[in-house]
Amino acid sequence: MKGFPVDQHTSLLQTAKDIFVGSLTFDLGRYLIAASLIAGLVWILRRTSWASRKIQKREATRADFLREFGASLRTVLVYTVLAVPMVWAFRNGYLPEYRGTVTPLTYAGYLAAILLAHDAWFYWTHRAMHHPRLFKTFHRLHHRTVTPTPWTAYSFAIPEAAVSFLFMPLYLAILPTPKPVIFAFLTVMILRNAMGHAGLELHARGWASHPLLKWISTTTHHDLHHAGSFNHNFGFYFTWWDKLMGTEHPDYVATYDRVTAPAKALEPQPFTTSASPQTTA
Ligand SMILES: [Zn+2]
Ligand SMILES: [Zn+2]
Repeated sequence: MKGFPVDQHTSLLQTAKDIFVGSLTFDLGRYLIAASLIAGLVWILRRTSWASRKIQKREATRADFLREFGASLRTVLVYTVLAVPMVWAFRNGYLPEYRGTVTPLTYAGYLAAILLAHDAWFYWTHRAMHHPRLFKTFHRLHHRTVTPTPWTAYSFAIPEAAVSFLFMPLYLAILPTPKPVIFAFLTVMILRNAMGHAGLELHARGWASHPLLKWISTTTHHDLHHAGSFNHNFGFYFTWWDKLMGTEHPDYVATYDRVTAPAKALEPQPFTTSASPQTTA
């Protein structure tokens, strides 16, 4: 399919009819699948020696989950509604479509470009939303979460969801991108988002101080931001904006190393939450 001819005007209403259900299903599916996958992984790991990698002592409450899940569903709706004018703009030639062949090399290049651009967009819009004049309207809802879980991924107020969506049409207006790359990007984005909010460190020991890996963000990196350090760790996929701008948490590496230290399996726990005589399965 080569797209719609420019002179054949497609209305906003027709576009909405065409894409609403598919777009809603896609965005909802992305959220549910990624959050469930990471939540399931964390549930399993907490029953292994990796249980000691839980970053905070505090547990997320049921009220946290209900608020985050509800807000995330609303974010999916915001994305779906805003996708209508974007697709309408594509159909009527106001946004350029990528027209070329996609080789593995162009695929990798376009994917790297969109991830780098989105990382910069995230860092700077996130930092801006922490400005006292913007925080309440845009970002306070996301920070009602002190102890993140994968369900926090889309827990945004409506204005923050709109800022998050805006990246897509702005970027595609500047650099038309092959559709398979866009789908890969959206998949990476939601998976990294759910991982960043996992609450249990999922990355390998030594990651935060490794000469190459340290440039890729970790769960602890974003967890520290939620745990009250509002002036640090604004980045998303990578840590270089935080390192470059001096906003990386001063105790990030030390906290990372402590969280990922081998479990002290034989050390008695100060509190025993369950003494039920369950047998292991
Ligand atoms: Zn924030
Ligand atoms: Zn967050």
